[in-house]
Amino acid sequence: KSIHSRANWSSDSESDSSGSECLYRVVLLGDHGVGKSSLANIFAGIQEKDAHKHIGEDTYERTLMVDEEETTLVVMDTWETEKQEEDEKWVQDYCMQVGNAYIIVYSITDRSSFESASELRIQLRRIRQAENIPIILVGNKSDLVRSREVAVEEGRACAVVFDCKFIETSASLHHNVHELFEGIVRQIRLRRDSKEI
Ligand code: GDP
Ligand code: MG
Repeated sequence: KSIHSRANWSSDSESDSSGSECLYRVVLLGDHGVGKSSLANIFAGIQEKDAHKHIGEDTYERTLMVDEEETTLVVMDTWETEKQEEDEKWVQDYCMQVGNAYIIVYSITDRSSFESASELRIQLRRIRQAENIPIILVGNKSDLVRSREVAVEEGRACAVVFDCKFIETSASLHHNVHELFEGIVRQIRLRRDSKEI
């Protein structure tokens, strides 16, 4: 599968992140059914019962206070579309270009989604080669202990190989979800601060 970049969409992000009005785009990647939308909804503060009201909306903006500093994240749950295959490829290329940070999600109950996560990491590295982009690998559905197919150690080891952070979450129990988004804010700041030196 060849991924060719249409334009360097990511380069305009520099201007967004100057001054106090910091705004960072965080893109959710991962197979269908791993829990991307569930995580995005928790980020957006959308309750399960009114989730149906938000059909068609897949980008959420929210300002988080982390370590006594505010940061605005725009979380994009745009990886999967219901459109034609051609459009999907365009949208996925766009997702790969536009993120300031990435959350790669797999389900701990689905080994093939774990393998997809590795492929996504490799794709991202190829497309955004020169950049040191913050990435968090997420093993979701940690509540489903009896159907676990991917051990915690495997997730952690994968993150070491891929040079990114790792966390297991349960969107159902809201476990570690806030920690995930706080983690991404901290990763973004670490890179921002090291650039300033
Ligand atoms: P997406 O396709 O990646 O956006 O996945 P969804 O967020 O739509 O979730 C797919 C299915 O998995 C839904 O039925 C969710 O309710 C369920 N799900 C998502 N996260 C969890 C979780 O942490 N635990 C459990 N048990 N189910 C989950
Ligand atoms: Mg979804």
